[in-house]
Amino acid sequence: MSWYILLAVLTVFQGQALQVEYPHEAGLEAATIAWAGRDVPFVREGERWLTVIGVDLDVEPGEHPAPITLHYAGGRTQARQEVIEVKGKSFPTTRLTVAPKYVELSPEDQARANREAKETRALYARLTPHKYWTGKFHTPVPGVTGGRNFGSRRVFNNQPRAPHSGADLRASTGTKILASNAGKVVLAHDFFFNGNAVFIDHGLGVYTMYLHLSKILVQPGDLVERGQVVGLAGATGRVTGPHLHWGVRVGNARVDPFSLMEMEAD
Ligand SMILES: [Zn+2]
Repeated sequence: MSWYILLAVLTVFQGQALQVEYPHEAGLEAATIAWAGRDVPFVREGERWLTVIGVDLDVEPGEHPAPITLHYAGGRTQARQEVIEVKGKSFPTTRLTVAPKYVELSPEDQARANREAKETRALYARLTPHKYWTGKFHTPVPGVTGGRNFGSRRVFNNQPRAPHSGADLRASTGTKILASNAGKVVLAHDFFFNGNAVFIDHGLGVYTMYLHLSKILVQPGDLVERGQVVGLAGATGRVTGPHLHWGVRVGNARVDPFSLMEMEAD
């Protein structure tokens, strides 16, 4: 994928994370890029400034402006226009059969699911203005780099539901699940649809999540390293069998976790 942007039209597919870079210059003290309704900060690493934006899987194909604002010593600011060209992608439809209680929700389960959706929406709205992660993002199941069903349109028990917002990785119950990069655990509990789930904040609006675990081995507030065991794979929540659902959000954008893995991030 393309991850490098430097004052040029950048082409990206729906559902991808995108690393954006800007070279350091004398006096430059801060920079932001406006994307999806918010100003995403850059962080300086040596002679460059970098950040990540997410192109949601349902963003309209076409050209989208993404202005960069540069803040210099002495209070001077300068705007640079970037254009991000989003290309459409076709996602297959998957039909699945799950326990009826996950499709026809009881009033109690519906209330719980709504509450949990609110909890995760509030999380994605928070942007930690620094970066916990370093280097590349790794697969949470060693050796498993497949599971490319991100974005598939889904029909559960003959009823259409939201598209698949992550990638399902083969993992039998008890398989160690590893943090894909350094970050802070922000949620770690049992959810109605997600089952036992761990959410990690990597900073700059990047979150990874690990769902359907049989066991959670971290707590909110824990700082984790890349490769640290955060839980064991399982089949909790709305599933057809044991696997790891690995999800990534960048801001509010649902992006393919493998696009994050392909990002150069050193
Ligand atoms: Zn899944």
